[in-house]
Amino acid sequence: MPPIQSFLETLYQEYRDLTAGQVASYIPELAKADARKFAISVVTLDGRMFQVGDFQQEFTIQSISKVFVYGMAMEDWGRDRLLEKVGVEPTGDPFNSHIRLDETSHRPDNPMINAGAIATTSLIKGDTPTERLNRMLAMFQRYVGRDVYVDISTFLSEKATGHRNRAMAHLMLNFGMINGDIEEALDLYFQQCALLVTCQDLATMAAALANQGKHPITGQRVLQPEYVRDVLSVMYTCGMYNFAGEWAFRVGIPAKSGVSGGLIAVVPNQAGIAVFSPPLDEHGNSVRGLKVFEALSQEYGFHMFDLS
Ligand code: GLU
Repeated sequence: MPPIQSFLETLYQEYRDLTAGQVASYIPELAKADARKFAISVVTLDGRMFQVGDFQQEFTIQSISKVFVYGMAMEDWGRDRLLEKVGVEPTGDPFNSHIRLDETSHRPDNPMINAGAIATTSLIKGDTPTERLNRMLAMFQRYVGRDVYVDISTFLSEKATGHRNRAMAHLMLNFGMINGDIEEALDLYFQQCALLVTCQDLATMAAALANQGKHPITGQRVLQPEYVRDVLSVMYTCGMYNFAGEWAFRVGIPAKSGVSGGLIAVVPNQAGIAVFSPPLDEHGNSVRGLKVFEALSQEYGFHMFDLS
């Protein structure tokens, strides 16, 4: 088994010239992304970092935020009450096509699709929109280990064009599945998606989940251990859009991707791993990201059911 740093460098060389995939273009801010940017970061539980490429490049976290906000909502409401509002059933549908709720419970299927994420965000506690945003930023800050910021241009573009998300929010309001004012919930959801992170940050955040909710460098608790299991379960079954089953089969570890080209995965009790590369495949997952994770999983036997 090659030492991890040299293996990352080999993967970087192997895939840096891959040109497949398209950068997300549903808002101009994302279409501006440089398709050549490429980074891989691995952070171990004792805080060691192995990285290659543009790992300090900032980009908006997008759907990867859903994982961490779900954990926060768990802490705010507890497992049972949160399950009343948001299910845990994979859909096999693209992230945003789902203007549909469960017929009997009226819940959105899971917290990794947009409807479920918006419902989850609407549950974040706080007396005012500012207080809710500040609580959320403080949560992300604990995971990252430094101050974090929202990219205002991306936030405003999403807000101006997010009609499908708004439609989902209205459907959920109709069934009493969303808490409070819709525009406030959508604003907070668009703000969480527009949070600026680096590949190094994402691997560190994933490492905190791998470490049962304790930050690998600061030692701070970022999530109660009892909820780490819940978060990892929905990542495993629902984290990769309508490729989640295939991912579970091929790579076999909890993961989440986002439309800006980030992809995080958690190797429980070992490490957090992130890849950043903006071109996406037809499912909305980073093309280079998938290649890198397949190779890593195979080389290091990360698959959770690889018992050999
Ligand atoms: N902000 C995006 C949206 O809600 C998130 C998309 C994603 O990364 O899946 O449309």
